[in-house]
Amino acid sequence: MHIKEIVLDNFKSFGRKTRIPFYQDFTTVSGPNGSGKSNIIDAVLFALGLARARGIRAQKLTDLIYNPGYDDGDAAAGPKEASVEVVLDNADGTLDRGQVVNAAGSEDVGDIEEITIRRRVKETEDNYYSYYYLNGRSVNLSDIQDLLAQAGVTPEGYNVVMQGDVTEIINMTPHQRREIIDQIAGVAEFDAKKEDAFEE
Ligand code: ATP
Ligand code: MG
Repeated sequence: MHIKEIVLDNFKSFGRKTRIPFYQDFTTVSGPNGSGKSNIIDAVLFALGLARARGIRAQKLTDLIYNPGYDDGDAAAGPKEASVEVVLDNADGTLDRGQVVNAAGSEDVGDIEEITIRRRVKETEDNYYSYYYLNGRSVNLSDIQDLLAQAGVTPEGYNVVMQGDVTEIINMTPHQRREIIDQIAGVAEFDAKKEDAFEE
């Protein structure tokens, strides 16, 4: 399974609908500083529910909506809604039909050779809303997370190495670095369960 394409609509610096193709082995994105490369990764994390607003460099979710006055610190009138769609090529059947049906809560999931996960954030006068969709069906974040966990993609995981992560790891104490290894190896989960058991 791999990401085939992402479609950004009014997400961060992408003020118009933008399709970005991803290739099977690797894809590189190049461009000058501030041109939106990291925003593309933020878009993937946003759509797949893998990070909170802070993790994608926003104070609140509505900061992710394209704002024409962003760099002037100006809350200029702009769009009130942003959306990101991640299209997964599942031709290798990494996610089986049962899992997809389970997550969508419906048999009607269409052709699962291609799976689309979409998230939308919408701003109203005094509130904001966030919606997730799986192959066009409205679902909860936990449905998306359960599905992706089957493919080893989790919010706690190290599926994405963010800008600055490497420096952070270099500056960690040996104990902190060990915690990362425990997490990757799957030992951390048992340590947490053991601690819970002792507390009881
Ligand atoms: P670098 O090479 O420095 O890492 P980059 O290509 O990764 O740069 P990004 O961090 O993806 O750049 O993009 C940063 C730019 O995104 C900021 O300069 C800002 O103008 C723009 N931006 C972020 N949020 C918004 C928003 N809500 N509306 C409009 N523009 C935004
Ligand atoms: Mg960057």
